[in-house]
Amino acid sequence: MEKFHTQSDRAEDVGRRKEPVSAYDVVVAGGGAAGVAAACAAAEAGARTLLIERSSTLGGAVTLRNVLTYCGLYTCRPDPQQIVAGIVDRVLAVLRRLGGVTDMITLAHDGNVIVVVDPEAVKYALDEVCAAAGVDVFLGADVTGIERRDDRIVCARVSDFGATTTSVATGALVDATGDASAAYLAGSSVVAGNGGRTQTSTMGIRFGGIDPAAKLTFATVGQAVRQAIAEGAEGLTSSTGLVIRLPVSGDVVAYLADQDVDATDGSAYSSATQAARAQGWRYLEVIRTIPGCAGAYLVSTGPELGVRESRHLKTKASVTDATLRSGAVPRDTVALAGWPSEFHPGAGAPSEWLQIGGAGAFGVTLDDLRSEDTPNLFGAGRVLGGDLRAGASVRVVGTAFATGQAAGVAAALCNQEGVSDLLTATQTELRRQGARLGLQHGQAHEARRQGLEAP
Ligand SMILES: Cc1cc2nc3c(=O)[nH]c(=O)nc-3n(C[C@H](O)[C@H](O)[C@H](O)COP(=O)(O)OP(=O)(O)OC[C@H]3O[C@@H](n4cnc5c(N)ncnc54)[C@H](O)[C@@H]3O)c2cc1C
Repeated sequence: MEKFHTQSDRAEDVGRRKEPVSAYDVVVAGGGAAGVAAACAAAEAGARTLLIERSSTLGGAVTLRNVLTYCGLYTCRPDPQQIVAGIVDRVLAVLRRLGGVTDMITLAHDGNVIVVVDPEAVKYALDEVCAAAGVDVFLGADVTGIERRDDRIVCARVSDFGATTTSVATGALVDATGDASAAYLAGSSVVAGNGGRTQTSTMGIRFGGIDPAAKLTFATVGQAVRQAIAEGAEGLTSSTGLVIRLPVSGDVVAYLADQDVDATDGSAYSSATQAARAQGWRYLEVIRTIPGCAGAYLVSTGPELGVRESRHLKTKASVTDATLRSGAVPRDTVALAGWPSEFHPGAGAPSEWLQIGGAGAFGVTLDDLRSEDTPNLFGAGRVLGGDLRAGASVRVVGTAFATGQAAGVAAALCNQEGVSDLLTATQTELRRQGARLGLQHGQAHEARRQGLEAP
């Protein structure tokens, strides 16, 4: 990677420099699933690409928020079909080599299909996949400003741990920050929540010291929480969150500590994070009442609060509930979404589900990713919005890999000489990279199904 700053840069205060110290074809803000897929796809499409992540690890919610299941890689049908492929296959290959991912699991309580990952393996796998794709990665670096010329983004300002601000010129930008903060800083149109509502946040809590034979499930944990509340326990917000056993460690992660918060309000976010962490200790007491769990301990709370949504990028089009209900795959599809709508209406309230129609997946189009007012800005992952129910489907990690890959390719190609039809060029390159843009009928499925039901 090019050296961003030197002693003389610091002396001159690069933050105030007029000329950027570095130039890229594509800058990707945010290194979660969407950002990693976008950066690798852009680089594979021939773009000089920089991935900027404010924490010290790639992975986003997976490595920072204990979100350890990849949803959306498969259709949630009795005969599941892999619908996200390409960059994610490179990640899964490294995870399998490290023993850091399960085979496909069908959840016992709702029939949905997931894989479970080990976060340490994810951190390393994403580093390896980005290096192999030729992506420059800048960790511990916060995108704190975006410069535009007329309607186009021309430069990202990045602040690092050393309190140095660097300017990076770019031809296109992918906002994969989860909270559309790059778009917000660029002055591009954003919107809060979907359909006027914002889902509740939850802190993922990881417990160790669990007997391998202990039955920790959605049902047994829910029952233990309800009993504790009936016996007078206070401060437990939910009894209906997912509970999942991890590969490698055998630890258990539970999504129970809910908080309703506007995550773009720093003060409210701080209080909610601390309140959710306090709940982690209360849930530990409950877990210890379950047979085989007397020696349970907290491995980690978060560390970040799990924010499901805050701001979204306003795009030229956006995913609709009608498309989800029908399972339509329009001809301008660049990614497939296969996770049912899972809307979390408020702290303690059970999730609201809506199944996808047709063959179990619907199409996300190029216009669903492209800013409505900034032609060289694309959104991916949790940044994307839409109708209430469809928006609560496309946000999951598996789909974020798909929308990220599509946004990265489109960003790489949108300034490329000779590209007059961005949609066709993007679809052609995505297919070359192994992405799925339609359901495969009658073909042998690639997914390896694991016999076990989720714990
Ligand atoms: C409690 C909870 C449970 C969930 N359960 C599941 C589940 O079981 N399975 C599933 O598939 N999905 C689940 N989800 C949804 C899933 O976690 C997210 O929607 C998904 O991680 C989105 O990926 P992303 O890459 O868009 O965003 P994120 O994973 O949020 O990544 C965004 C990244 O951008 C970085 N960033 C932010 N701002 C800046 C900036 N200004 N500069 C530089 N970097 C920045 C962040 O540090 C972060 O690394 C859950 C979410 C929550 C909150």
